[in-house]
Amino acid sequence: MGSGVEQAVQQAATALRAARYVTALAGAGLSAESGIPTFRGPQGLWTRFGEPPMDGYQRFLRDPAAYWQEQLQPTSEGPRAELVKALETAQPNPGHLALAELEQMGVLRFLITQNIDNLHARAGSQQMVEVHGNRSKLRCIACDQRYARSEFSVSQVPPSCPQCGGLVKVDTVMFGEPIPSRWLQACHAEAAASDCMLLVGTSGTVYPAAAFPQMVKERGGSLIEVNPLETHLTRWCDVVIRAPAAEALPLLVQRLRALQGKPNA
Ligand code: NAD
Repeated sequence: MGSGVEQAVQQAATALRAARYVTALAGAGLSAESGIPTFRGPQGLWTRFGEPPMDGYQRFLRDPAAYWQEQLQPTSEGPRAELVKALETAQPNPGHLALAELEQMGVLRFLITQNIDNLHARAGSQQMVEVHGNRSKLRCIACDQRYARSEFSVSQVPPSCPQCGGLVKVDTVMFGEPIPSRWLQACHAEAAASDCMLLVGTSGTVYPAAAFPQMVKERGGSLIEVNPLETHLTRWCDVVIRAPAAEALPLLVQRLRALQGKPNA
């Protein structure tokens, strides 16, 4: 790890320690080292296969049975097959574990993640919103009740909600689908409470998630970016750690532990 990165990690540790209420926004880059491809960037799924249709949710509403038939059909090639295979075998990496540790240390109060891979929960993060849903769950679009996918039997297509009879789909938020309002409200409340936000592995191009760091900045808070590449959010950031999350975040935990017990600078 270069001295520029070491210095940035030290600055980040000092900023986190001085902050009153720290939140984090995580994106696909955090799970890249768990073997899950990002959408954008040099090896991104969309870079290699092209962008998917932007009206996925409208198609689902038009023909939910066809959506479910596709979901239940095994695929062996293409972007969906690649993503599904990676999701099935992925394990939390040191970056996920470090975020969970920051929460246990009382440093990180809340995590907003755009990831759908369930790796935060498996790493031990608890205070979070999965703002784009979780691929290991199903959700009723009428009452927002979520179900573990492994415990839900799809005996008819499309399946209906055992609680209210509404239409059930995979929890992952599709293009054109409204994000459940209580998730969005929680994100807005957390961004409003933050005086520091850690931005990990996100390109800052997907809204509304990309607006949360701007909210923090506009209210006088600070932003710390952990990303090997420049992003749309970089210009707003007070500290930039140009390194992979699985390397930078454990180092950040280490530096914070070293600062613990010392008086604030
Ligand atoms: P993105 O694909 O737009 O951008 C990924 C970002 O991660 C880039 O800025 C890239 O430079 C950075 N990155 C790559 N490797 C990294 C590493 N090792 N450490 C830190 N950063 C790294 O991702 P996004 O901003 O999250 O938005 C895309 C959408 O894709 C989201 O809606 C998300 O739901 C979805 N997505 C999720 C997963 C997942 O759950 N793991 C995977 C692919 C896409």
